[in-house]
Amino acid sequence: MGSQREFHLQQRKGRRVILFPLPLQGHINPMLQLASILYNKGFSISIIHTNFNSLNSSNYPHFSFHSIPDGLSQSEASFADIVSLLSLLNVKCAAPFQDCLAKLLSNIVEGESIACLITDAGWYFTQAVAQSLKIPRLVLRTNSVSFFLVFAAFPLLREKGYMPAEGCEPDAPVPELPPLRVKDIPVFETRIPETLHQVVLGMTNQTKVSSGCIWNSFQDLEQISLATLHKEFPIPMFPVGPLHKYFPASSSSLLSQDQSSIPWLDKQPPKSVIYVSFGSIAAINETELLEIAWGLANCRLPFLWVVRPGLVRGAEWIEPLPKGFLEMLDGRGHIVKWAPQQEVLAHPATGVFWTHNGWNSTLESICEAVPMICQPCFGDQMVNARYVSHVWKVGLHLERKLERGEIEKAIRTVMLEAEGQEMRERIVYLKEKVDLCLKQGGSSYQSLENLINYILSF
Ligand code: UDP
Repeated sequence: MGSQREFHLQQRKGRRVILFPLPLQGHINPMLQLASILYNKGFSISIIHTNFNSLNSSNYPHFSFHSIPDGLSQSEASFADIVSLLSLLNVKCAAPFQDCLAKLLSNIVEGESIACLITDAGWYFTQAVAQSLKIPRLVLRTNSVSFFLVFAAFPLLREKGYMPAEGCEPDAPVPELPPLRVKDIPVFETRIPETLHQVVLGMTNQTKVSSGCIWNSFQDLEQISLATLHKEFPIPMFPVGPLHKYFPASSSSLLSQDQSSIPWLDKQPPKSVIYVSFGSIAAINETELLEIAWGLANCRLPFLWVVRPGLVRGAEWIEPLPKGFLEMLDGRGHIVKWAPQQEVLAHPATGVFWTHNGWNSTLESICEAVPMICQPCFGDQMVNARYVSHVWKVGLHLERKLERGEIEKAIRTVMLEAEGQEMRERIVYLKEKVDLCLKQGGSSYQSLENLINYILSF
């Protein structure tokens, strides 16, 4: 076995892969996990990244990092309008990226060759650059396959009057896209709606003509969506996930993780804690913050709550909470700015994850068999929440108003009632599927082998 691995590493020596992550936390983590996997398989790694949300290269001394100017002003580099941000990045990074890639291609070290470029699907301008420089481009999709199907159907949804869905009954099914209802259709707040459709077309069309698509997902979870998508996108597909099972996300965290979370969890009984986090972009208002706080306080169970600076619109951090709120709970609640999420989910004390259903968070929860309370805020999170609650049935969708009574009821259902116990059993079963797919002969293991052989064939 050992000598076979040596042989493969030798064979791959001298092949370099260039990766270009989108500068958002939920996109950076899987791309750097993929980079680490490829490095371990013997490839040399170059990472091109923007100044905006610049990466901490010191955590990856074995990669070479190349920073490009993104030209964003301070107001442009804001998460308030993620669609405009994406569109701007695709315009402003085009020339600096082309220069950087051309330089890397012309300054090849002797005995080395560049195999391919792997970019986030969000960098749709890069397909034209890759073609002009004659280098194959693979795409990494960091969302679910099921969401991409919906994303690719945006033009149809628009034509049929679902976008915007004014006048449609929110609970009505969308027959074109089961199991979605009208209210599950992704919403993206953006100043200029037309920009969204340009971004969607850019991402879908430039993925379709790429050399292949890598998915942070696995066959058993999204088999039907993968098969449907492959018909529309007849390019090589590599569902190799969940990527964080190979390498943790902590080394690519943009915010520093508050390590006090783990000793605090150590003091709590098994499966007793509600872990609450809405990821790196979603925002809430002050009223919602207060309803969450009282919902958590009233259910009388321990909670670990991530309130990221910037989570509450118009507030620095948790100053809108009533004075003495945490003290009143007598140690039952712990609030941090950013947590070591994977470790928190893997901790025996964690009982439920109240999540915005970003795709990484959803996968991380599945991998640790922690049932979810779904609180999608925008975009793909709405589709993920629908799959979690109605297809995989491993979570409860908080669909009504964010109100303390509803919150308390949802937490009690998942933590204390038979319905929650059934979700727990189903998610344990899904976790077993994850463990199997990563083992030799499993679907993700095989997809990764296929991907490596494919890259070596360039
Ligand atoms: N995360 C973390 N600490 C936190 C909250 C989140 O390390 O307190 C990580 C989480 O493990 C995940 C990523 O940040 O890998 C968030 O990605 P996701 O796709 O769930 O959501 P997004 O931030 O893109 O909305």
